[in-house]
Amino acid sequence: MGNNTDTATSNQLATGLSLSDWSDVLQAEGHPKFRSKQITQWLYEKRVSDFAGMTNLSQPMRDWLDDNYTIDALSTVRVTGSEDTTRKFLFRLADNRLVETVLIPASQALFGEKSDRRTICVSSQVGCAYACKFCASGLAGFTRNLTAGEIVSQVLKVEAESGESIQNIVFMGMGEPLANIRNLTKALEILNAEWGVNIGARRMTVSTSGLAPQIEKLAKIPIQIRLAISLHGATDEVREQIMPVNKKYPIGRLFQALEAWREQKKQKITFEYILIDGVNDSLDQAKVLVSRCRSMNAKVNLIPYNTVEGLQWERPPEAQQQAFLEVLTSAGIQATLRKEKGHDISAACGQLRLQQETAEGKIEKAASGS
Ligand code: SAH
Repeated sequence: MGNNTDTATSNQLATGLSLSDWSDVLQAEGHPKFRSKQITQWLYEKRVSDFAGMTNLSQPMRDWLDDNYTIDALSTVRVTGSEDTTRKFLFRLADNRLVETVLIPASQALFGEKSDRRTICVSSQVGCAYACKFCASGLAGFTRNLTAGEIVSQVLKVEAESGESIQNIVFMGMGEPLANIRNLTKALEILNAEWGVNIGARRMTVSTSGLAPQIEKLAKIPIQIRLAISLHGATDEVREQIMPVNKKYPIGRLFQALEAWREQKKQKITFEYILIDGVNDSLDQAKVLVSRCRSMNAKVNLIPYNTVEGLQWERPPEAQQQAFLEVLTSAGIQATLRKEKGHDISAACGQLRLQQETAEGKIEKAASGS
């Protein structure tokens, strides 16, 4: 089915196909098209782990599926954390690459909304090319895009392993989702569809370092997903020091794309802002951030910086974090300061994979990235 050049295995992942994809491949093989509905039911609703379990399909059809597709793509290397805290899953892919997925418990507030729902943070790529200076994922550089099936499978696998049902998805794990927009879009379709995993569009948030043209492209898909921007600096001077991508798409260009997003989608945009001691935590930055938020009617999620081995930055003292928050809230901006729970289990993006690969000798020493 060679249209997916990012596929790592010879057998394509079944969980990367939509209802109409299944109709197409069945038709091409001379199988009845209506079977597509049964296949998606087995995959996304009943969650069988092999094709033998698809008992209302004929044996030849099950054999054909088994010869050409794989269902269980991820094997669990490690799970860190306990049942009532953030749990982090390290998965091995068919080509031995590692990805991380984080399950955030019901009680933890996300984006300031007290939520009784479980949230999963999924990865979109192995590694990342954008080399943000706070991020463990960028340290080892970019390896490859995840396929749509590998993205969807993270949700199915974490539900199966944890026994929990997941109501929110954030694309804030490893990788830059908008640099993998084709597979991202397919995964969003499968995760959202009634014939698919059936998660509400408003419960899915794509987080990006700010790839302006791709934001404009994603704005056009007919699913009302939410958008979060990793801003981390309110002026180009400050943001540039933290995120090299700002040289390509400075804040002015980024905000042009956000205008386009706002024309298409109804929800508020969220700005993520990691507070890094002495780098972006001045009250002057907070004041500029206020005007940025006003211009976009955006809300802010402040995150105290999580120390990454190999990177020298630190989180500001709590008083400084509070003072920064105060500038925003007293100006009427909707903002929260995340009480970070994953610190002790290396829950920041890419940290667990980095440890595992270092332990396996795959990364000799952390490259500087840029
Ligand atoms: N490439 C996408 C998604 C991955 S990063 C993007 O840039 O948005 C997503 C988020 O992970 C960041 O915005 C930040 O909130 C969080 N993050 C990554 N590294 C972190 C660190 N060292 N400390 C705290 N948060 C971190």
